[in-house]
Amino acid sequence: MEEYMEAKWAEIQADALGLLRDLIRTDTQNFEEAGGTETAAVELLKARFDEAGVPYEVIEPKPGRGNIVARLTGDGTSGKGPLLLSAHLDTVHAPKEHWAAEGWKHDPYGAEIDEADGCLYGRGAVDMKHMAAQSVALLCFIKKAGVGLGRDLIFAGLADEERSDSAYGVKYLIENRPDLIQADVVFNEVGGFSMFISDREVFPVQFAEKGSARVKLTVRGEGGHASVHNDENPIAKVGLLAHKLTHGRLPVRVNPVNTASINGIADVLPFPKSAIFRRLLSPMFTSVIMNNLLTADQVNIFSPLMRNTATPTIIGGGDKANQIPPTAWMIINARLLPGCTIDDVVQDIKDLIGPRMFEPAPDPTGGEEIPPEVTLEVMVSREAVSEDLTNPACSEVMSVVAKTIAKHADGAPILPTMVPGSTDSYFYSRHPQKRPICLGFTPIRFPPDIKFGKIFHGVNERVPVAGFKWGVRVLGEVVFELCSAKFD
Ligand SMILES: [Zn+2]
Repeated sequence: MEEYMEAKWAEIQADALGLLRDLIRTDTQNFEEAGGTETAAVELLKARFDEAGVPYEVIEPKPGRGNIVARLTGDGTSGKGPLLLSAHLDTVHAPKEHWAAEGWKHDPYGAEIDEADGCLYGRGAVDMKHMAAQSVALLCFIKKAGVGLGRDLIFAGLADEERSDSAYGVKYLIENRPDLIQADVVFNEVGGFSMFISDREVFPVQFAEKGSARVKLTVRGEGGHASVHNDENPIAKVGLLAHKLTHGRLPVRVNPVNTASINGIADVLPFPKSAIFRRLLSPMFTSVIMNNLLTADQVNIFSPLMRNTATPTIIGGGDKANQIPPTAWMIINARLLPGCTIDDVVQDIKDLIGPRMFEPAPDPTGGEEIPPEVTLEVMVSREAVSEDLTNPACSEVMSVVAKTIAKHADGAPILPTMVPGSTDSYFYSRHPQKRPICLGFTPIRFPPDIKFGKIFHGVNERVPVAGFKWGVRVLGEVVFELCSAKFD
């Protein structure tokens, strides 16, 4: 296989690069009310699959909002359910004109390769049209070359990840066509790209993502005319609570997810940094270390890994300039650690604000009890998703990923990580027939000066051409091994 493939990789890489450029030139922004053009990208992929003879189905829940799911059927000899490669085809916003004024070096839809830095520029270059291009090129190669597979290999090109909770994308498929995307293992976004810790190259692989919730906090005060002093003004009270939530921290909660992540990083740090870093897992020391030994950027990464968060995002109350309203409110955007329920987060918020404010009080004059000063109402919530790294089916996949990356990146290790946001993996994990193992693995090798966090949803989104081609081969070899590919 090695010899045969050695001659083929350049072809597959060139094919994938061409497809990525075509995908970037196809505007599929999905923001505010402007969303709705994923079908244009689906058309491109259809043409590739038609040409190679790969069977697929297109599901369009609403005109323009196309999803495409292709499948190569294996002979079943691996005894395993399908491996699914997932890529959303929509992107966040980028300017179509005046892009230079917004700081772009190249047209976000031009798919230009910069001669100086060797990067392909464009919206979707790393989030995540690269994965669509890599996957589709692989499936087409496997079909055309007649490579045999021991299990099914599925590709899902999805609509609507960036907005409205995948309602026209994977959520729709899970609810209406779960048969198309039932799999044992899903490779989805946010992982498999290189980053540097203490000058050491490492590859985060996502095995967990936080849940999220929207909670409405209402403060009761006393209404009245704006011309007189009023210490019970609920507008002031809600402001104080927003301040408290913003500058306070919910408690540290140590769990298998942050334990694996922190230990993984500590393993690649030199002593004594490694020992100090491991102490983040002792709740007594977490804040001390964060406040005194980590940079602000590091705190931003590691604090959400250790605790639930509760961030005020909308505030309201009152509608007349000369009148104090009786109540005021704020919306809190909360993020949940794996293993936590929404009740845990509500309790964390109450503990931070002061539990007594949430309790009714007896009326000193003997009348009816006084309702609580503050109430919380959960509007929506979704729990976190995480994989059990000790589960043999999961550790088998992780070890194939680790081995392949190490082989192609001078022995660099993988790091199991949790992302603080959420992805389509949430919906995959809710598959009605079988919950798959969901990992963030869309390989790209970056040079040290490109920070994934800065270009993801950012200005000058770009992918190094060499690092993208590297990813084609790494993804390909992982797929071949997990699918017991046969080349004769
Ligand atoms: Zn994405």
